[in-house]
Amino acid sequence: MTDRSAVTVRVPAKVNVQLAVGGARPDGFHDLANVFLAVGLYDEVTATRAASLRVTATGPDTDRVPLDRTNLAARAAELLAARYGIAPDVHLHIDKDIPVAGGMAGGSADAAGALVACDALWGTGASRDELLSICAELGSDVPFSLVGGAALGRGRGELLTPLEVGGPFHWVFAVADGGLSTPAVYREFDRLNAGVDVPEPEASPALLGALRAGDAGALAGVLSNGLQAAALSLRPSLAATLEAGVAAGALAGLVSGSGPTTAFLAKDAEAAGVVAEALAASGTCRAARVAVGPVPGATVL
Ligand code: ATP
Repeated sequence: MTDRSAVTVRVPAKVNVQLAVGGARPDGFHDLANVFLAVGLYDEVTATRAASLRVTATGPDTDRVPLDRTNLAARAAELLAARYGIAPDVHLHIDKDIPVAGGMAGGSADAAGALVACDALWGTGASRDELLSICAELGSDVPFSLVGGAALGRGRGELLTPLEVGGPFHWVFAVADGGLSTPAVYREFDRLNAGVDVPEPEASPALLGALRAGDAGALAGVLSNGLQAAALSLRPSLAATLEAGVAAGALAGLVSGSGPTTAFLAKDAEAAGVVAEALAASGTCRAARVAVGPVPGATVL
């Protein structure tokens, strides 16, 4: 056991620079070729000793974050405790800055953060592989939240290969009002693709090359999100946000994951600032945030 009485872990959001989605599998999931980039918008998860498992949250939209055992952070604590035969007696406080239900893997980030925080608080000393296997049990995006950086996710997104990135990329994220349910977006994808022979998802060599070269112009030309049409179908107003960001000088814009956050790639930090200001003034989103990626995954502070 350690004698730490509190552990805080910082965990980044993600954007999918490529999200290639295959047809629905017999189990209902979709095979993906998912190129994740961790970006500098963070949640912080603090674990402290407590008489029983408890979750609290602060930050925008935390009224939409469940505080019971369905919170992914609580589930992470329970899974780790069960593996080590201990009681999951911990207070998890989530200081939330990642948009809720925004397609930026906020819940997954909290799960990875809670896992690392509880492991340090309880002194369970789980190996990296054990932590990764618990992450995969919790959800497809959770392993990436643990490792951060950039990675190609295969399977449902949880089979990760780290990717080399040749430099920082400057992003602007337009936060929308309300969220979109990821399962609902996949259902819409299935509806839009009914009767279509959806090709096997493959990572784009041009995209991997642009990441490796740190070439924002080249990356902008090959960003792609197979869920974008479904997200736009459920939330048509996102088209105006995408237009506003590009009109303000972004190299390209796309829906982040299942949305409704939209992501804009900018040439440099200065251009990102200009795009963020224009988006904030456009009336097409609630807020605009700049962030750089890649950044490291879950980190004990
Ligand atoms: P992804 O990008 O991985 O598809 P998301 O970013 O769109 O996910 P989340 O913010 O992870 O969405 O939230 C999705 C839903 O999960 C929320 O509406 C909420 O009901 C539930 N949830 C469970 N735990 C959390 C958590 N710690 N933070 C936010 N939402 C949570």
